[in-house]
Amino acid sequence: MFESLQDRLGSILNNLTGRGALSDKDVSAALREVRRALIEADVALEVVRAFTDRVRERAVGADVLKSVKPGQMVVKIVHDELVEMLGAEGEVIDLNAPAPVVIMMAGLQGSGKTTTTGKIAKRLSEKQGKKVLMASLDTRRPAAQEQLKQLGEQTGVASLPIIAGQSPVDIARRAVQAGKLGGHDVVILDTAGRTHIDEPLMVEMVDIRKAANPHEVLLVVDSLTGQDAVNLAKSFDERISVTGIVLTRMDGDGRGGAALSMRAVTGKPIKLIGTGEKMDALEEFHPKRIADRILG
Ligand code: GDP
Repeated sequence: MFESLQDRLGSILNNLTGRGALSDKDVSAALREVRRALIEADVALEVVRAFTDRVRERAVGADVLKSVKPGQMVVKIVHDELVEMLGAEGEVIDLNAPAPVVIMMAGLQGSGKTTTTGKIAKRLSEKQGKKVLMASLDTRRPAAQEQLKQLGEQTGVASLPIIAGQSPVDIARRAVQAGKLGGHDVVILDTAGRTHIDEPLMVEMVDIRKAANPHEVLLVVDSLTGQDAVNLAKSFDERISVTGIVLTRMDGDGRGGAALSMRAVTGKPIKLIGTGEKMDALEEFHPKRIADRILG
């Protein structure tokens, strides 16, 4: 277990008896701990730097109120900045487009793409009363299309019938067409993933995006992959212009650092978080909660 950032800051700053403005020296000592804690939480280095700069700017010279200790005050500034950097509260999947609204799921193999596709489909259909069609475009992993079909059976959401030999782009077109003909509100496309980003995968993604014209392109990222996740998100975004991020495995023992990195580096909203393997383990993203978790 990590020692919590709050405790660390407390032990550095709470014994300061001086009142008045926070000095550069006090703040620098605190920021060393902030930096260390964020790095342990796997926040990308460039983000750690930007973050500590912002905190320094706000904290140095700030008046310490009589009612709080300097340590509490720095913790509050750190917390507020974390919340601000994590983005707005209540980002949701945008369905504000003519039906069928197409949602394209992207991400590396094993990131939780197919599971998240099933979870989103279930949520939209059960909680928002939407008629949803799911389609797997993963023709490389033979079990992938079958996996989505089974998730459909399990959740009661329709999945596109599998036709062997079709290309991912053809399946995407067929899914959109079936969505139109079947009166579906939403079509979710689960694309193929690889263990790493490669050019053929990206070309395939670009072609699917062109063919299906999705309203949302959600990048599914494993929150436990740490720093790599940031480069991954950048590469996907450059090629297929991501509209939102889903962070999976937030039930794991990570400190939530990926959320901060993702948001800061890509500027894309985190729309949902995966919190388990079950089909209802999907939650909205609450910046305040994640800030608390990062602070520990
Ligand atoms: P894909 O290759 O990206 O489609 O990944 P899958 O959807 O097949 O997921 C890979 C594994 O991760 C499966 O065992 C899922 O049950 C698991 N998984 C997906 N999302 C989560 C999550 O939020 N938390 C946990 N603990 N496991 C998850």
